[in-house]
Amino acid sequence: MPAEFDLIRSYFTHAAPRTVLGVGDDAALIDAGKGRLLAVAADMLVAGRHFFRDADPESLGHKALAVNLSDMAAMAATPRWATMGIAMPRADARWVAGFSRGFMALARKHGVDLIGGDTTRGPLNICVQIIGEVPARQALRRDGAKAGDDIWVSGTLGDAALAVAARTKRIRLKPAELKQAQQRLDRPQPRIALGLALRGVARSAIDVSDGLLADLGHICERSKVAAVVALERLPLSPLLRRYRSVPAAQAALLGGGDDYELCFTAAPVKRAAVEHAAAKARTRVTRIGRVIRAPAGVCSVVVVDGDGLPLAPVRRGFDHFG
Ligand code: ADP
Ligand code: MG
Repeated sequence: MPAEFDLIRSYFTHAAPRTVLGVGDDAALIDAGKGRLLAVAADMLVAGRHFFRDADPESLGHKALAVNLSDMAAMAATPRWATMGIAMPRADARWVAGFSRGFMALARKHGVDLIGGDTTRGPLNICVQIIGEVPARQALRRDGAKAGDDIWVSGTLGDAALAVAARTKRIRLKPAELKQAQQRLDRPQPRIALGLALRGVARSAIDVSDGLLADLGHICERSKVAAVVALERLPLSPLLRRYRSVPAAQAALLGGGDDYELCFTAAPVKRAAVEHAAAKARTRVTRIGRVIRAPAGVCSVVVVDGDGLPLAPVRRGFDHFG
């Protein structure tokens, strides 16, 4: 168990008697009455940790909200309100104007009101809290997967982490390729429409923020099941396909993170319904594997090659204290 989740489990997971769903999912759920739940999540971006210090402020504004919207998508919640805590080293009006442009453009696109927050001096650090709404019993949670379910993922995987690998000199990309990958890193597109269309269709969901293996692993742990994923079925962009034999690209694909795609499970009888939901949301989805019973209670995620043979374990996702 990565150290980050050990800490959360040991010190930040307490009884929450006034809460429908507490720590451990993409958002908490609170009963708002009249058959409505509020979905609440918070995500922090720290300079030098989650983004390069020279990051374009407008893109950063976009991303600070996008990563939170992605958690709403994973819960099938409609995002409504956001608060923002921001620490910055100096009062740089140009920087803040750019940041705010990026943040508010995405907020308007998704009908989110910025309703409060806190602003202070300090190392650049942005923490956004998001609140959304979902009808009771329609929220998608990490703990709903059942053995026999198909596993699906939206979009393509690995491109954002490929940009990080290039910037940290683990892989060499041509300038035009880096620009393309960087776009995925800087401007994630939260899959809100898909999350909403999957209400009543999918059985469990998570957004892929820490890498497919790690995040699908969270579904497995919470649902007490295991998963088999076919490497050859994973949706790759043309760029990632070009580099797929390079170890850094494979690591980006399976464990890189920053994809902000949805990984979800659904019963096989729902295949047509999943395709219909994807078409309605104008979002590509790919069936990548199957949920199985956890062998001897081990909630593992196994990746198999074209011959059905398990791959050697790869680094499993991002752990802030690993
Ligand atoms: P996500 O990647 O979806 O944002 P995380 O992996 O960051 O989720 O967190 C896992 C769970 O732990 C979430 O339910 C989150 O709300 C909770 N969590 C993380 N840090 C804390 C904290 N400091 N206090 C309380 N809950 C936390
Ligand atoms: Mg999440």
